[in-house]
Amino acid sequence: MNAIELTKTLIGYDTVSPKSNVEVMDFLTDTLESVGCEVERVEYNDPAGTLKVNLIGRKGRNTSERGLALLGHIDTVPAIGWSENPFEARIVGDKMYGRGSCDMKGSVACMIEVASRYDASDLHAPLYVVITADEEVGYFGARAVAEKSEMFKQHGFPQYGVVGEPTELKAVYAHKGAVRFSVTAHGRAAHSSTGEGDNANLKLIPFLSEMREVHQELTTDTQYYNSEFTPPFTDWNITISDGECTANITAPRSVCTINYRPMPGDDPQVWIDRGRDAAEKYGLAFDLFINAGPVRTPPYADIIQAALEITGDTKPHTVAYSTDAAVFSKHMETVIIGPGSILQAHTVDEWMALDQFEKGSSIFSQFVDRFCVSSNLR
Ligand SMILES: [Zn+2]
Repeated sequence: MNAIELTKTLIGYDTVSPKSNVEVMDFLTDTLESVGCEVERVEYNDPAGTLKVNLIGRKGRNTSERGLALLGHIDTVPAIGWSENPFEARIVGDKMYGRGSCDMKGSVACMIEVASRYDASDLHAPLYVVITADEEVGYFGARAVAEKSEMFKQHGFPQYGVVGEPTELKAVYAHKGAVRFSVTAHGRAAHSSTGEGDNANLKLIPFLSEMREVHQELTTDTQYYNSEFTPPFTDWNITISDGECTANITAPRSVCTINYRPMPGDDPQVWIDRGRDAAEKYGLAFDLFINAGPVRTPPYADIIQAALEITGDTKPHTVAYSTDAAVFSKHMETVIIGPGSILQAHTVDEWMALDQFEKGSSIFSQFVDRFCVSSNLR
């Protein structure tokens, strides 16, 4: 099993989050089985009603050990404005281009390559490869795995988890969470000259004014700062859309969407309630669609210490973006570490440096050696 070849194949599947992932997961079911994993498919319908599949591959004998999970996602963000076909991998020089090369089909391929290297009989604690859906849009896949997996019900959750998001193979012990909600004002479209319209944008303005105050508080009041992060404050990023309503029509609908990243120690509910209460006060519809808490594994935890020894780094890092660890860290001791750079994730003409494949596989296999192979078990 070769991670570079496998990544090329995976890029060929368009797995932008809202689309069905059944085809790629059928392929990956066969792939995981071909490298000796027992495979569970965990299915659910996403908020739009589309069937989504998550996979859990398990390798190892039945023991009382709970083992290690390598955790990745197969969905990607959309690919708009690319110079070439984003769903056809291209190697140019020392880079592989393609949507998901870096975030994070390349990393998933490294995990499967690593799983292929071990005989089940060598593993005295089980090795899992978990591949989720919908990471990019709210961790729905990870949630389904955590709630519904029969394998985890039977064997217990793995003791340790490695979330292989692109960190340039640096060990990350904490990240911000993700909260997103929208508030919608409804009006009535009419030619603006007639006086017959009802402008939804006007209804949104007092709400926006309150949200600006929240933004001010969260970004300037140092009691909400957390010096473990750069920047030490959250965003409270406000976007507005009236569907590009033309200036001589009264906007029939206006939507404000706010993105907030709670940090360890924050109480996200306080700020969600600020948004909800303000929406209710002005008669606007409130819709919370992402609510994932922050992650913080203590730096002294086994998995973080192991990551530091493996990478030769002196201290673990934090990042400002969120991952499936928002869900999985509630069930296992988790580190975030993987090949590729977040600077290339989500970009037009996304790429991954070719040397990251070998380095990624090497780091993942050192976790397996340490936590799944008997002579190394603590
Ligand atoms: Zn990702």
